[in-house]
Amino acid sequence: MSMLPGFETPSPRRARRAEPPAPSEALRDKALDIHRRLCGVYHCPIPYFHSLDPLSELISSLLSHRTRNADSGRAFKALRARWPDWEAVEAAPTEEIEATIRGVTWPELKAPRIKAVLSAIRERQGSLNLDFLSDMSVEDARTWLQAIPGIGPKTSAAVLSFSTLRMPALPVDSHHHRVAQRTGLIGKSVDVGPSHPILRAQLPADWSAQALYDNHEVLMLHGQKVCFHHKPACDRCVLLELCPTGQARMQR
Ligand code: SF4
Repeated sequence: MSMLPGFETPSPRRARRAEPPAPSEALRDKALDIHRRLCGVYHCPIPYFHSLDPLSELISSLLSHRTRNADSGRAFKALRARWPDWEAVEAAPTEEIEATIRGVTWPELKAPRIKAVLSAIRERQGSLNLDFLSDMSVEDARTWLQAIPGIGPKTSAAVLSFSTLRMPALPVDSHHHRVAQRTGLIGKSVDVGPSHPILRAQLPADWSAQALYDNHEVLMLHGQKVCFHHKPACDRCVLLELCPTGQARMQR
């Protein structure tokens, strides 16, 4: 299957296969140290930013790919205002959906994708509702979601973590991924998708949904506020002592 820009590559087989080797104790300690330092800076526990049901969270997540939060939030509200429920969105003409979400990146791709995802859920589940995922393990729920074209590791984890399901899943976005790579939690060649199971395995298996959410949020916030894509502010970073990239930059 070809990959559309702005969408994660779907692969249920890959979702099942992604068992990383057990992390070393040193790497686990480092992941915890990073978590504690960043939680001190960004004040864990971090309040949840959404209280959407899981299907709404999924649509919100599909809209948000490569799109600013404000624009995807506006598009989500526009969809909710234009149609009374997701059944009506599924039945709506694609071009009307595209016009309604025109503020996001690639509305011409996201409109048919949203309809296809809704239809796939109805086909597999018999109705447009994802609340049943709460009865599954995190791994099974993610595998179920990732069997749908267009849903990858980041989206499946976001649905479980950010929605009212509040399940212990760890999403990794581009900011989170950048900080993890620069601090050496993951290798330079590890992409966002494959980084999910690696980063999750470095954290305690019994961590709560809130603790994993905090971990994602603080690494993401650090990427947005300090570890910028261009010119990271290493001189004021609480992770400098732990970060080979920052130490190399400071010696230049
Ligand atoms: S020391 Fe620099 S490169 Fe390392 S995490 Fe901090 S800001 Fe990013």
